[in-house]
Amino acid sequence: MTHQHIRLLIVEDSEDDARLLYSELSRTNGDITYARVDCAEDMRAALLDSEWDIVISDHSMPRFSSLEALELLKECGKDIPFIIYSGDVSEHVEVAAMCSGAQDSIVKGNFARLLPAMEREIHGAAVRRAKEEADARVHKLAFYDNLTGLPNRNLFCDHVGRKLAQSERQSSAIYLLDIDRFLRVNNCFGHKIGDALIRQVADRLQECVPGEGMVARCGSDEFAIYLGNVSGDRQARDAAEHIRQAFFRPFIESALEFHISVSIGIVASPRDGDDVPELLINAETAMFRAKSLGGNNYQFYAREMGAVAGAQLVLESALRKAAARDELLLEYQPNFNVLTGELTGVEALVRWRHPQMGVLQPDDFIPLANESGLITEIGTWVLQNACRQAKAWHDAGHTGLTMAVNVSAVQFWQPGLVRTVARSLAETGIDPQCLELEITESVLMRNVDTTITTLQALKGMRVKISVDDFGTGYSSLSYLRRFPIDILKIDKSFSSDVIEDVESAAIVQAIGALARGLGLATVAEGVETNAQLEFYRQQHCDRVQGFLFSAPRSVADITEMLATRTAGQALPQGGTGTRDHRMPGDVGQIPTKEFARRAT
Ligand code: C2E
Ligand code: CA
Ligand code: CA
Repeated sequence: MTHQHIRLLIVEDSEDDARLLYSELSRTNGDITYARVDCAEDMRAALLDSEWDIVISDHSMPRFSSLEALELLKECGKDIPFIIYSGDVSEHVEVAAMCSGAQDSIVKGNFARLLPAMEREIHGAAVRRAKEEADARVHKLAFYDNLTGLPNRNLFCDHVGRKLAQSERQSSAIYLLDIDRFLRVNNCFGHKIGDALIRQVADRLQECVPGEGMVARCGSDEFAIYLGNVSGDRQARDAAEHIRQAFFRPFIESALEFHISVSIGIVASPRDGDDVPELLINAETAMFRAKSLGGNNYQFYAREMGAVAGAQLVLESALRKAAARDELLLEYQPNFNVLTGELTGVEALVRWRHPQMGVLQPDDFIPLANESGLITEIGTWVLQNACRQAKAWHDAGHTGLTMAVNVSAVQFWQPGLVRTVARSLAETGIDPQCLELEITESVLMRNVDTTITTLQALKGMRVKISVDDFGTGYSSLSYLRRFPIDILKIDKSFSSDVIEDVESAAIVQAIGALARGLGLATVAEGVETNAQLEFYRQQHCDRVQGFLFSAPRSVADITEMLATRTAGQALPQGGTGTRDHRMPGDVGQIPTKEFARRAT
């Protein structure tokens, strides 16, 4: 017998027989402990109080029998081998015992058979236990999240699916919750802190959810919550608000304070889906809506959201491959010096030649690129290609031609932006002063100190910074002064208004005065009529851009334009370049009054 410690439970009315058995076994395997029981109560207590490796049982005793002992063993639910060891067992009892789970039956005194049988059964039980443990571990991996210990999506679907089936008539709510801008935490502070925060978020969510509810981690920074017995949308909303407010308290990690907010999508069962996977998908759709509204809020799912989300998903997966498949292209829209008429620069505007849908304009896919994070890749592509093209034009003799490149908010907040710009400059050899990075006003205002640091790093490379769509945001003058910027690009919505709307005209006047005061250049975009051009000329605007002069054009068109246009020529007017008649759709939604109030 292998020499391992064996804990033996002997069911036997005779102490002498038990001792004999013990000493016989000890001769071959020295490390044995045993206890003897001979009635149900004692056996039950022994099974409850201690662990046993094997039970060796006499068959018939004055107060007990092997079959009763077997029953007890079954009751306690432990997998302990059971061998009948008796002098007088009928074949009929043996069969009954085997049927009830006894492993073997051996005639008292036959040690030659007992020893190998014990060894075999103890080993067998150990194997079964190891397998159970392995199964439990696999179960844990399959159904629980490693980082937080929370149930994962699979278990959530299983468990909630069962709950929903049980409570067919009651309504329940499911929430899908995503941490806002969590990527930035990971990018700026590293995964270790990111992971620790996720764990804290998991704890805080569990505090918000009562015992019958369930919190699960569904993805990196995505959690699902189930609440049963929710009487209506009002109660569902209250719970969402409760969760949202739970995040008002900052998270402390590694002596840093993190202010985290969440976007929450809400679905009600049975209204919003037939099964848990469907409910989760719809909750995710609602969550994305909450995100697109700026985060830190909750949204109920509405059927119309689904169609849009489905189409977006298809578009997103195509967009993912667009850069690699060479489907992106750039057009360039020229801008001109108001006084000299010179073609001073161009703005690079990206287009996507979709294999089925034809050429898509940025408004059709840039928002999606921003949401999905694909903008970083697209933005890098745009930057590199625009710089390369500018260098080619410079080399062809058009030195000083400026190249404006749009940088979206998402891109601006990526930690790699400065490096990407530096690499594009180095790889193409373009004069940095000819590169104008266009960022929108809202980017400036989001996080002033970080913005200034990033802008200073860019200025350190001698790149120019232009504030795009200026006048639509809420800049206050005192702030603007703090930013190292070079150009204000007056939003095109003003152009369509300046002639008729006195307020717009006044704002443009104010912007002009502000720019002169701060030593900034101004570019008016969206100029479509001679009257508008004349207005901007009177306002001492430096440059103009718009359909009046040219829509965005191909490289070949711009090259031709550069060859024919020289300084001193009057500005091209009326009718040229009106091939593209798209009008801005956002006129009227611009908070111009707000701006006017703050600017003056
Ligand atoms: P934006 O930066 O304000 O670009 C100017 C937009 O106004 C362009 O639309 C242009 O075609 C249009 N436009 C030019 N002249 C006129 C005019 O006289 N009247 C009117 N009504 N519109 C005019 P586009 O090319 O569709 O671009 C739309 C927006 O997409 C851009 O607005 C910019 O925010 C974004 N975008 C374009 N390319 C890129 C890019 O490479 N990266 C990023 N992040 N965003 C881009
Ligand atoms: Ca722009
Ligand atoms: Ca613009």
